[in-house]
Order: sequence, then C-alpha cells, then structure tokens
Amino acid sequence: MLLEAAGRPLVAAELPVPTLGPGQLLVRVHACGVCRTDLHIVDGELAHPKLPLVLGHQVVGTVEGSGERVGVPWLGWTDGECRYCRTGRENLCDRARFTGYDIDGGYAEYAVADERYCFPIPEGYPDVQAAPLLCAGLIGWRSLSFAGDAERLGLYGFGASAHIVCQIARWQGRRVFAFTRPGDEEGQAFARSLGAEWAGSGAPPEELDAAIVFAPAGELVPAALAALAKGGSVVCAGIHMSDIPSFPYELLWGERVVRSVANLTRRDGEEFLALAPRVPVRTEVEEHPLEAADEALARLRAGAFRGAAVLRI
Ligand SMILES: [Zn+2]
Ligand SMILES: [Zn+2]
Repeated sequence: MLLEAAGRPLVAAELPVPTLGPGQLLVRVHACGVCRTDLHIVDGELAHPKLPLVLGHQVVGTVEGSGERVGVPWLGWTDGECRYCRTGRENLCDRARFTGYDIDGGYAEYAVADERYCFPIPEGYPDVQAAPLLCAGLIGWRSLSFAGDAERLGLYGFGASAHIVCQIARWQGRRVFAFTRPGDEEGQAFARSLGAEWAGSGAPPEELDAAIVFAPAGELVPAALAALAKGGSVVCAGIHMSDIPSFPYELLWGERVVRSVANLTRRDGEEFLALAPRVPVRTEVEEHPLEAADEALARLRAGAFRGAAVLRI
C-alpha cells in the first residue's frame, strides 16, 4: 500500500521484490502495526517523507533464506559517527534514517532492513500480538524510563502505547492514573482492567509524580504540569503535537520538568523485548488485512478501538 502524497488515500500497488544491499535482510512481512506517526505522515505534519512511501515501522516477519523471525523498528539506520552516536544517543543521530519514513516500511509483503537494527522477536508472541511491541512498546518503555522512580504515574491518552506502559508500570509497583477523552467510559474501563487505579478526564484525585503524554494535544502539557507534585516530570512521547498553550511559570516552578522523547536506541529495544515476556505484557490488537490500511488509519484517528491496530499480511 503506497502513500503517493500527503492527504491522499493509500493506493494498492505492485512493486518488484526489493533487492538487497550489503548487510541488508529481505523480510517477508507477516504483520505490521499501525502507529499514530503514520497518521502524522499521511496528514503532512512531518516534513520530507520519502515519496512515494510504504508506511509502517512495527514490522514482524521472517528473513528470506534463514527463516529467522525479526522485528523491524522505526530506527532503520544511523551513521555511527556523529557526536550523538558516539555518546550512546543514536536516537538523536543527525543522519538517522527511519523505517516507513525515509525507508520503505511494512505496509507490504516484503521489506528490506539493515540487519544491525532488527530485533529478534520473543517467543510466545504471535506475529500480530508482537507488532505493537516495536513502537508502542519501545517508545513507551523509553518514555517510562524518563519518569524515573515516580510512584504515581499519569498516562494521558490511553491508546496502544499506554496500554502497554500501564502493564509494565503496575508490574514495577507504580500506581497508574489514566486520562482519556471526556466521556470515553469504555477506554476508562479498559485502563482499569489493566491495573489503573483511577481513570477519567480532568484533574486526578491526587498529585502525580510523573506524567507521560501520548495524545498529540498540546493543551495536555499544562494540564499535566498542573497535576504534578514538586520535582515531577511531564514526558511528551509523540513525534508531533499541536501547539502548547502558554502557561504561568508557577506550573513549572518547584523543579518540575517538561521533556520530549525522540525515537529509540537499539539498547531500548533489547531491554524492552527482554522485559516484555517477563511482565508479561499482553497486547490487545484489532486486526485488519493489508488492503484495509486506510480503514485502520481512520479508526485510529477516531479512537475507535482498544489497544493497537495491526495489519495482517
Ligand atoms: Zn510509531
Ligand atoms: Zn549519528
């Protein structure tokens, strides 16, 4: 399924099976997760995607030849030599290339990936259930690491990533407060079923030690700051967000922190994929055939399902 230009529906296309460069794997795709970042690309909110483009950066498939099952994440390539790469921050690499953005991704029967950036998929996860681990899970894990040892954790936007982070946070012994759109009682019940002790919208019943904002709505940043205890952090997990409204300095005072999370390192992936089966993280998934990618994106935009949407290929 090809994106030819921002704002247009994806189109089914027949492409040649890709040829390999040095160090690359040809992956027969079995499942690919649908991410909010894909929506931002379709909507033209991220500058300069490759066009035409095959979206998708939560790819689960088998390597042609060896049959090994691998996951292909958002971080597709780095230069290994810039000041970020040399200091353990390859997620910030100046010349990084991203799957389903700079490199064709997994909304397809085949994908090509640099072997060094692929992960083995833990046993026990079927392909479709594994796919959301590769971005919703990985970025959620990196975001959670920036919450430090916060005991009372707020999750703003209870979608694919939050439903995974909630399970890990509970396993770590944290208390979880889930924020949904007003009136989303089904989403609130889903959050409570995964261990959130409170789910709602508006102000939480007590102060939070950290908050992770998954929803791309800038007004949630001052709202989350207002809910924080002194010394707490607001972690913005998305790649794009509407403008953050101005707010009084008093909300930031008391050593509160606002920060973003960008991309992932391979170390994040190794840590998270080792942890997920131990929790164990269970992903709730809505399946769609590849041809229905546009419908899956529309349902993500509408918040029409619980957990994560995945294309089965
Ligand atoms: Zn993603
Ligand atoms: Zn670099």
